[in-house]
Order: sequence, then structure tokens, then C-alpha cells
Amino acid sequence: MISIVIPLYNEQENVDHLYDRLTKASPSWNDDYEIILVDDGSYDDTFEMVQSICARDAHIKCVKLSRNFGHQAAISAGMRYAKGDAVIIMDGDLQDPPEELHRFLDKWREGYHVVYAVRTKRKEGFFKKLAYSTFYRLLHVISDIDIPLDSGDFCVMDKRVVKVLNAEMVEQSRFVRGLRAYAGFKQVGVKYERSERAAGEVKYTFRKLLKLAIDGLLDFSTFPLRIATYLGFMIAIPSFLIGLFFIVHRIFNFKIFGYSASDTPGLATLAVGVFFLGGVIMVILGVIGEYIGRIYFEVKKRPFFIVEEIVSKKDNEHV
Ligand code: UDP
Ligand code: MG
Repeated sequence: MISIVIPLYNEQENVDHLYDRLTKASPSWNDDYEIILVDDGSYDDTFEMVQSICARDAHIKCVKLSRNFGHQAAISAGMRYAKGDAVIIMDGDLQDPPEELHRFLDKWREGYHVVYAVRTKRKEGFFKKLAYSTFYRLLHVISDIDIPLDSGDFCVMDKRVVKVLNAEMVEQSRFVRGLRAYAGFKQVGVKYERSERAAGEVKYTFRKLLKLAIDGLLDFSTFPLRIATYLGFMIAIPSFLIGLFFIVHRIFNFKIFGYSASDTPGLATLAVGVFFLGGVIMVILGVIGEYIGRIYFEVKKRPFFIVEEIVSKKDNEHV
């Protein structure tokens, strides 16, 4: 069986269309399937619409979260309930076309454990594209594992990989595409053209996107912490040499390029030194603070999603 996990946050404009396109595409998957729609605390009619779909189609299951936990947590929730031998993760706004899924499944049947989608064309604004591309390249350079360039969450995962993510990667901060790369196994990328959002507004606000980017960079690397050490050396060594020079200069009081140490009180040097170092120290403290914040959240071990209700035609469980 194949499971398809789709997070939904206020997607009332897309739900019916999404369901139609998935159902139309389903014969091409050549397998039994379940679709797990995760309602990530929507406050529009998404849940009611999903409920009515669940009532008439036993393929569809809904996991309703108790509030908005965010895209990555919603995906993680859906994966927890997926029973398939292959689990597909895709967006609910039809940016990831259901008609392409069979190509991914073919690769999975060839024996790959993770088939991730690589975006060839993004139909998004210039700045967003630039930001994404810079982010992925930066992530590639500083992270300790190889997270494939330009691959999002859209993918097929074998149930072995899903099991690892569910049971063994218990961290609170979920950067799913990073965890997936960390899991290893046989992975392959398949190119596809990312469409535009079918309807409705983008649910990733700038703040959420920034949080995702910071999670991605900090969860998979301690490089930012090491910058402190590098910068420290870069500043300390020349400073030491300059200091040494000034001491020698002061003692012997020789003129160099017509300058003698007794000519100026050296205010400029001090001021620049203090402000520059102050700035550097603040940045580094901020980075250290970020990591400590992460440790704090991980130590608390709070669940990263809470399920309110599960709806399906077969069993109406309440949690
Ligand atoms: N989403 C979610 N919770 C959120 C934000 C987004 O479940 O807090 C879902 C959203 O409904 C959509 C998917 O995540 O199915 C991707 O969101 P969006 O299309 O807004 O992001 P983008 O395509 O710009 O990355
Ligand atoms: Mg989208």
C-alpha cells in the first residue's frame, strides 16, 4: 500500500480540487492507497470539507492537530499515522502535481528508499527564488551532511526510512528534508517542474520561512559556533602583532613614515576596536544563544504535535 501525507493549513480553496486530482491520478499508482490529510489547526472550512470527503471515501483519513504546529510538524504527524510500504509527502496547494507521482513510485519500485523531488523551475518571484537558492547553497556548504540542492519535502520514502524518522529521530525541531538526508539508505533525485499555488494565499509567512531556514542551518551544523573561534583567531593574531608593534614603537620612540607614537592619543584605533569587537561579540553571543535555546527545547521533550481527532470512514477514533 502507498500512503500520501498532505499537510493542510487553511486550504479550503484547494481541498476539493486536490481530492479530485489525486483520485483521478490514483489508477497510475498501481497499488492500494491511503491519503492522510493533516489539518494543521486550520480556522477556515478546511476541516469540515475534509470530514465530508472522509465520510464518502475510505481511502482518505484525516489527522486533526489541536492547533497550528507548523508545516514540518504536520508532516511528521502524518508520517506517524501512515501505514503504507511507501510514504509520499506533498503539499496541499497543488504545487506538487499528483500526476507526477507515478514517476517517483517507479523509482521506488526500482529499489530506491528515498526518491526526492528536485525543482527545475520555480514559478515564484525573483527575490524568493534568490533567497531559496542562496539558502540551499549555504546549507550545502556548512552542514555536516549532504542535503541535496533544491529539494523540498516532496518525496517518496520507503517504510524503513519512515520508521527511522518516526522512532529514532525524536528531536523537536523538525527539518524533515534534513532528517531524511541524514537517514541515508539509497536516495535518488527526480526532476520536476514546480507549479504555482493553485489557489489561496501562501501559508508560509516570512517569519515561518525564516524559522525554517534557521532550523535547517543550525540543526545540521555547528559551523556557526566555530565561526566564533575562527573570528577570534583572525582578530586576536593581528591585534597581538599590532599591540607588540605599538609597545616597541613607544619604547624606542622611532619615527615611521614621519609618525611617532607620541603624536596622537590613538582615539580612532580604540573607538574602532571597541565598536567592531562589540559587534562581533554580540553576533557570537546571539549564535550561542540560538543553540542554547535549542538545547532548552530539546531537553523539555514536549511533543511537537498534538492530535485532537482522527477521522476516517472505517474508524472514528477520538484521541
Ligand atoms: N502548511 C501547514 N502549516 C503551516 C504552513 C503551511 O500545514 O503552518 C501547509 C500548507 O497548507 C501547504 C504546505 O504546508 O499544504 C506548504 O505551504 P505553502 O504552500 O504556504 O508554502 P510554500 O509552497 O510557499 O513553501
Ligand atoms: Mg505552496
